[in-house]
Amino acid sequence: MAKDPVCGMEIDEASARAETGQTRHGAAEVDPTKGTRTFHAGKWYYFCGIDCRNKFVASPDSYIE
Ligand SMILES: [Zn+2]
Repeated sequence: MAKDPVCGMEIDEASARAETGQTRHGAAEVDPTKGTRTFHAGKWYYFCGIDCRNKFVASPDSYIE
């Protein structure tokens, strides 16, 4: 299980991936209602939803320990 770095919720990586499409360039798309993820500094970060993801993307360093 991955942990949402914004709110601390446990995220099921498999279901987050299942709800995540990929462009032909490999960039991640997001699902606004289910778990989602973003790639940052060499690894994937998982989120419970789009709100947490947006907070992370706006200021990732403040959520990474
Ligand atoms: Zn969250």
